[in-house]
Amino acid sequence: MERNLIQIYNSLTRKKEEFISLEAGSVKMYACGPTVYNYFHIGNARTFLFFDVVRKYLEYRGYDVTYVQNITDIDDKIINQSIQEGIPATDVAAKYIEAFLKDTAKLGLTPPTHQPLATKYIGQMIKLIRELEIAGFAYEVNGDVYFSVNKSSEYGRLSGRKTEEQKVGARVDKNTDKQNPADFTLWKRSKPGEPKWKSPWGEGRPGWHTECVVMSRDLLGATFDIHGGAIDLLFPHHENELAQANALQTKPMVNYWMHGGFLNMRGEKMSKSLDNFLLTRDVFEKFDAETIRTFFLSKHYRSPIEYSPELLEEAKVAVNNFYDALQDIRYLDFAQSETVVTDSADEYKRKFQEMMDDDFNTAKAMSVLFDLSRKIKNQRDFSVEERQGFALILVKFGKVLGFFSDIQARLAVTGLTDPLMKILIDLRAALKAEKNFVMADMIREKLSKTGIELRDKKEGTTWSFRE
Ligand SMILES: [Zn+2]
Repeated sequence: MERNLIQIYNSLTRKKEEFISLEAGSVKMYACGPTVYNYFHIGNARTFLFFDVVRKYLEYRGYDVTYVQNITDIDDKIINQSIQEGIPATDVAAKYIEAFLKDTAKLGLTPPTHQPLATKYIGQMIKLIRELEIAGFAYEVNGDVYFSVNKSSEYGRLSGRKTEEQKVGARVDKNTDKQNPADFTLWKRSKPGEPKWKSPWGEGRPGWHTECVVMSRDLLGATFDIHGGAIDLLFPHHENELAQANALQTKPMVNYWMHGGFLNMRGEKMSKSLDNFLLTRDVFEKFDAETIRTFFLSKHYRSPIEYSPELLEEAKVAVNNFYDALQDIRYLDFAQSETVVTDSADEYKRKFQEMMDDDFNTAKAMSVLFDLSRKIKNQRDFSVEERQGFALILVKFGKVLGFFSDIQARLAVTGLTDPLMKILIDLRAALKAEKNFVMADMIREKLSKTGIELRDKKEGTTWSFRE
């Protein structure tokens, strides 16, 4: 039986479930965005990129997707950075928001439907904290307001932690005023000189966990389809978001919780606090966006990945192969070329969709793309129309995974390579005719070092990017 529904691994139930959206034909999804106190590292890029692919695939499957990604522009880390850089916290946030938008665009991410700033929601956050206080889930101590986890019967269900196991984690301040060490901050009293807003509890700022509840409720409603983030957000951040929502409503806050695996560096989670990170903008110095995309998507999103320049080099070769395979459609008008696709295209479509429907298995979907690219390159006896047909499917599915956004320009560059290679091949043939084998071999070796392979055949020499 053909499976028509997408399966999603739900962190809440710890199993794959058939995806049924709240409203037929539309999906409401939320993924936690950056805290803008620095440039984002390549581990963060993995998460942002994956949820962008989820969105793109759901759109390909015909859903109208509303995708919200918040920007945390008020936080202790921003305040600390503002002290370090000697500029106001608002300037720190503005600087890194601009960098975030620039770098995510460079990474090929489609801007989310909404990208709300936390500071634009302070009034609504105060209102929600007040509701929690009135409902008996929050208490104030000297201008700080905490959420009482003991009041929440479901607390710990999402992350699978029992209350007694809960430790005082990152972003949960050690504070003797708390009734329970696991209680988390909803509102924080400001120290002199810190950014502050007026509230019923005095001047201060909201806690991080309240932000996402308030913004998702405002933009997606009290119940929405998908909430995503990296696995380290499962606890305490998402558990705390859910606790607040559960305190105020009986309906579920989220139907499918999705969490992406880490990018590791030397066997440990890449993070700014562990100081073993690489900034995305530094990785761009060596690898382009499609190479980084290939590297990430070649693994399942829930598996950890070890950062590896060697694997990135391999990804680069794979991307070159894509463009090499697409040379035949360099001059096609894509919009008008759909009809060239043959029967076996359906087989590829079925496979690609089956893999992606299975909890967004991009690793297997990528191997469908690699297959296609090999098929086009190796089957030189296909007619041009057949090769074009396969190339068009490659482009179509590649775009679903976020590739080929600037295909004409990139093919034009490869298109320039062709005449230049012809000059080198002719030159090498002339050298060989003169028995200058040293120089002829030098050309071959130097090309080989840049990833270009020459093949001598009866009918002449051909070139290709190395497999
Ligand atoms: Zn969040």
